Amino acid sequence: MDRRSFLRTSGLIGIAAASTFFGRSLKAFAETCDKIKPTPQMVTMLGYVTASKTKGQNCLNCVQFQGDKKSTTGKCPIFQGCEVSSKGWCKSWSKKA
Ligand code: SF4
Repeated sequence: MDRRSFLRTSGLIGIAAASTFFGRSLKAFAETCDKIKPTPQMVTMLGYVTASKTKGQNCLNCVQFQGDKKSTTGKCPIFQGCEVSSKGWCKSWSKKA
């Protein structure tokens, strides 16, 4: 992970942590954890979409994605371990090595 990606990811994790502490939105988010809907505040802040519009970038090739290569969904620590679509994307995307 390069410095820029690290700083971006760290900042977003900080925002997520602040949301966890202050917001009730994560409770609602947890209730939709199985299939993320782009309505909770955290999802909105991170710009998560279920179908990536950024060429060459999707959850499947993101370092945070916890699923095998053939998975259609996988857990993402940025989203509290909730499942995200392998075709999804968010602002925390970082290339898997
Ligand atoms: S950090 Fe974002 S792009 Fe990466 S797996 Fe999680 S939701 Fe997908």
